[in-house]
Amino acid sequence: MNFQFAAIGTVHSCFHEKFAIPRQPQLAPAARGHIELYPPYNQPLALQGLEQSSHVWVLFVFHRAGSGPEHLRVRPPRLGGNQRIGVFASRSTHRPNPIGQSVVQLDGISPEGHLLISGLDLLDGTPVLDIKPYIPYADSLPHAHNALAEAAPTPVPVDWTASALQQAKAEARRLQQPLVELIEQCLAQDPKPAYQQPEPEREYGVRFWDINVRWHYPDPERICVLSVLPN
Ligand code: SAM
Repeated sequence: MNFQFAAIGTVHSCFHEKFAIPRQPQLAPAARGHIELYPPYNQPLALQGLEQSSHVWVLFVFHRAGSGPEHLRVRPPRLGGNQRIGVFASRSTHRPNPIGQSVVQLDGISPEGHLLISGLDLLDGTPVLDIKPYIPYADSLPHAHNALAEAAPTPVPVDWTASALQQAKAEARRLQQPLVELIEQCLAQDPKPAYQQPEPEREYGVRFWDINVRWHYPDPERICVLSVLPN
């Protein structure tokens, strides 16, 4: 059976590249964005009642996952990148149908009908297939467990050079965004590939909003932000 779906909207997000996006929602509460809905769903009628939910499920397409041969097994980064598990045991972006699901906080609905969201793990431009309210009694299972992903990853400590922190605070004021928190929360997830042993002289970089962030590892278990400069 084949099905065809049209996107009902697009995600506008602080993440303009895949690198350093948290691997699940809620790991970076300061990650913000909005969902722009397409006609006819960009009308108050389609959103009536949604403001009563604190969180929503976003169903979306991994539109930048790339295509490749079909794999029955994947190597999730959180298992160090060298242990294989079945594709259905993972949240890999490479799946039979490239559909993702994320619970995000609904911070409000703008006058234009945009959904203001935070805690995202979504790339800017992600096509949205559907939005559903989070239902705590059905969606939160206190006794559920998953031995492959029992707890959120242990955060890596993030330090700043004095100049980088000053730059981040200035850019945060310009953008009206919690940029310091966003950088700390995302880098604390340790974006570099798990197999890499970072040398202190090696610099890494990523873009959040229109800002280039650069950092290094003074030692393998610690990050220091070096600069935070507009593009
Ligand atoms: N929470 C979702 C899920 O479980 O279906 C996504 C989990 S997936 C492991 C999260 C990663 O997907 C992010 O770290 C980011 O690198 C990647 N990603 C986010 N949006 C994407 C998109 N539109 N296309 C391709 N990859 C994307």
